[in-house]
Amino acid sequence: GAGPGDPELLTLKALRALEDADVILHDRLVSPAVLDLARRDAARICVGKAAGHVGSSQEEINALLISHARQGRRVVRLKGGDPFVFGRGGEELQALAAAQIEFSVIPGITAAAGCAAYAGIPLTHRDYAHSVTFVAGHAQDGPESGAAPDWRALAMPGVTAVFYMGLARLDYIVAKLLEHGAPPARPAGIIAQGTTAEQRVMTATLATICGVASSSNLESPALLIVGDVVALHDSLAWVHAGAARDFSQTG
Ligand code: SAH
Repeated sequence: GAGPGDPELLTLKALRALEDADVILHDRLVSPAVLDLARRDAARICVGKAAGHVGSSQEEINALLISHARQGRRVVRLKGGDPFVFGRGGEELQALAAAQIEFSVIPGITAAAGCAAYAGIPLTHRDYAHSVTFVAGHAQDGPESGAAPDWRALAMPGVTAVFYMGLARLDYIVAKLLEHGAPPARPAGIIAQGTTAEQRVMTATLATICGVASSSNLESPALLIVGDVVALHDSLAWVHAGAARDFSQTG
């Protein structure tokens, strides 16, 4: 796991693995500043998808991992955030296990944790939220789809819902929450390019978030957070233009 963007959020273990790697297969989401921590002579292979382009297929990525490992190389499969949170880390490990290739897993700070911290939005809070749910915002609804989110549960009070990959379907997500009983006044926020120097945080309510988002030209990647905790951003925001970067430079 490469963490959400700020290279200082990498774990010591991830840093050591990067320094040891002969080959790094990385996603597009991994920030260049993180890739810069690898050895100069390490091969860096981007296997990610850009919006609207087809990247390497999952089968191709699995085959690459296996063939590099079989050639005796130390391979790092570097993913944004945490490899087991919407990162297909499980699927890739299944392929490695089937091929009898040894592996280890290094967790990363997932986007929800990193973005919430840098936006001053506590994901849980004894007064406002007793649970938090990470949701794949692009999951398809349908009668046969076991993957559809439980909208009724997400619309309940006292719950924080974090939608990954949801910006393109923002209108749909908001409509579903309202339809399942969430009040229009429930706070909702979008964090774009979280933990980087370009981080932007927009807060609104379910009633107004779509308008706010469409008028503000947000860059991906972006997360949607819905829940009463989002209102705490007004008093707890601590990253102001450039603050995350200043912090890492003085560290
Ligand atoms: N494994 C990753 C998630 C991959 S899915 C993790 O644990 O974070 C990709 C989605 O993650 C994006 O569509 C976006 O919703 C979210 N995301 C990743 N990095 C982000 C960032 N720096 N700021 C905001 N959202 C981010």
